[in-house]
Amino acid sequence: MRNIIVCTKIVPKAEDMNFDPETKTMKRSGVENQINEADKNAIELSLKIKEKNGGRVVLLSMGPPFFEQYLKIGIAMGADDAILLSDRLFAGADTFATSATLAAAIRKIGDYDLVLCGEETSDGGTGQVPSQLAELLDLPQMLFVSEVDVDGNNLKAKRTIKGGYEIVESGMPAILSIELGINQPRFPDFKRKRWADKEFSLTIWSASSLEIKPELTGTSGSYTIVKRLTEYFTHQRQRISVEGTAEQQANKIMEILREYG
Ligand SMILES: Cc1cc2nc3c(=O)[nH]c(=O)nc-3n(C[C@H](O)[C@H](O)[C@H](O)COP(=O)(O)OP(=O)(O)OC[C@H]3O[C@@H](n4cnc5c(N)ncnc54)[C@H](O)[C@@H]3O)c2cc1C
Repeated sequence: MRNIIVCTKIVPKAEDMNFDPETKTMKRSGVENQINEADKNAIELSLKIKEKNGGRVVLLSMGPPFFEQYLKIGIAMGADDAILLSDRLFAGADTFATSATLAAAIRKIGDYDLVLCGEETSDGGTGQVPSQLAELLDLPQMLFVSEVDVDGNNLKAKRTIKGGYEIVESGMPAILSIELGINQPRFPDFKRKRWADKEFSLTIWSASSLEIKPELTGTSGSYTIVKRLTEYFTHQRQRISVEGTAEQQANKIMEILREYG
């Protein structure tokens, strides 16, 4: 087995998720972050595949420099290396620009048999990145995978579909999206965490390190923009009581219902 690349996104904790109404962007600094849960499941699976078949687990992430501290948690779990794609040019990327940048980095890492992603993130949550990567890299894709069996250059995966599952086979390299909650991600090893914090140096690639036109990254490479943000509040119970005869009550109820269109 050659490199197993795990696309690892750092996301705000659910309770800390917030948008800046001015810029219509997600607030990423000053909030508590974590490795996206499904990506942790993907890291755990990659380590299991490595234990059985060999290879190197390489974490790949795109985001601001402070993501480094979270990627070191993945290193402490047992990943061999971590690469952070960080450049102001990458900011504001939609899913396509994100995938184009990740694909350029995957090409640069090279020598890989598997690219693992989470099934979706808890912030953007589109689930589009794995398929876009497969298309851009021209690789077979298996989505919502819960089990993997590697045999030589062949891959058998169990993937969840509506009402059941299917077993699919493919050669490698291939791209897999990993279902949330399929395993219990191991705790970071304490000694390895100390080593990662003190001695491990993360590789950081900027736009000029990758073979990608800068205009295909960040906002300029994005086909979508957030035009409007609307906050939805859950409806409060009104607790209106209507008085009068049965007919008066019925008329009043109709009046109230009409107000709600
Ligand atoms: C309404 C809205 C507003 C947004 N606003 C902002 C914003 O203000 N600022 C901002 O930075 N982003 C913003 N984004 C998010 C941005 O579009 C996503 O970060 C990016 O395009 C990935 O999409 P996703 O989170 O839906 O990934 P999904 O397709 O759900 O992710 C699937 C898997 O792909 C991999 N993956 C995805 N993204 C990365 C990554 N960056 N690095 C490594 N692996 C990855 C992971 O394995 C992940 O589990 C916004 C998205 C939406 C929908």
